[in-house]
Amino acid sequence: MRERGLQTIARLCEQADDKADAVPCDHLLRFCVLGSGSKGNATFVEAGETRLLIDAGFSGKEIERRLAEIGVEPETLSGLLITHEHGDHIKGAAILSRRFRLPVFVNEATLAAAGPVLENLPQSKPFVTGETFVFQDFQIHPFAISHDAADPVGFLLNNGSLLMGYCTDTGVVSRLMQHRLSSCHGLVLECNHDPDLLRNGPYPPSLQQRVRGNTGHLANADAAGFLSDILHDGLEHVVLSHISETNNHPDLAQEAMAAVLQTLRSQRGDNCPVPTISLAHQDRVGEVVILGGRGEER
Ligand SMILES: [Zn+2]
Ligand SMILES: [Zn+2]
Repeated sequence: MRERGLQTIARLCEQADDKADAVPCDHLLRFCVLGSGSKGNATFVEAGETRLLIDAGFSGKEIERRLAEIGVEPETLSGLLITHEHGDHIKGAAILSRRFRLPVFVNEATLAAAGPVLENLPQSKPFVTGETFVFQDFQIHPFAISHDAADPVGFLLNNGSLLMGYCTDTGVVSRLMQHRLSSCHGLVLECNHDPDLLRNGPYPPSLQQRVRGNTGHLANADAAGFLSDILHDGLEHVVLSHISETNNHPDLAQEAMAAVLQTLRSQRGDNCPVPTISLAHQDRVGEVVILGGRGEER
């Protein structure tokens, strides 16, 4: 089964074994934001033989369709990680879990708050926010974020040598998040709204307040400030995600990040390493990113 579709990282490494430039398996980590925004979120992450989804906020069929676009058969998935109970993060989780017998890693408060949407899971694996757990090829650290949900988390995934961070749906960034994500090589980071567009847009005041509040969503400038705080030479790729279709524009999100990188270059010279910045999309699959010096696959 694993021979069909996108080859696993482990298989890629086996094939590279004969070559002089073979990359040890734990030096590769692949991820792809399958879609992101208020209408649905799901991200594919892979290391070794382990294939995970972080959130499953589209219908099961839609997630299967998006996985197929990157050549991943859902039968080859290993498990699901859930950040919080909002529908745009869990809509398809139970159906995928049942269809493919996937363990669902979720904290107890989120599971309780999700109610019927996450009922009858074949395997729910409770984790405790702040406590690292191991699943197959990954060490996974769920850390607290600031969002209007029961016990929302971001994740730091570690395959032994590479770190991938996932941080969306947070009204503010904290020192804890900065600490957790300060050495990651790849990062999916929320870049939700532009405050002026939010203020002048169609959202009623109460909803604006929710988005902009401390337990809402992250503004472009705050995401840029966060990137500036955690920039380091090992950071290879940042995917801007959960971009509002109403209160933001992809260009504004990218400009905020470009300014951070420009400041870095002006301090350290044009040849200093800077991460690639790409965008996650609501309606289509984003780039497949391979961390570990091999660059992007497409
Ligand atoms: Zn969300
Ligand atoms: Zn949310």
